[in-house]
Amino acid sequence: MSTNPVPQPVVCPECGARVDLPPGTVDGEILPCGDCLAELEAVSVNPPVIALAPEIEEDWGE
Ligand SMILES: [Zn+2]
Repeated sequence: MSTNPVPQPVVCPECGARVDLPPGTVDGEILPCGDCLAELEAVSVNPPVIALAPEIEEDWGE
């Protein structure tokens, strides 16, 4: 696992907007696109690779 020390620009795969991976982002972290609000997964932060996060059903029942 790696973290990024500085903001890294990536392109939202959904809408093409520029999204910055904030410092401290870790591999696998989920970030919202500020433009289309898609959930993006930082597959890797070094080098920065972003993908649409898999849809997760909100099922918090136990
Ligand atoms: Zn987007």
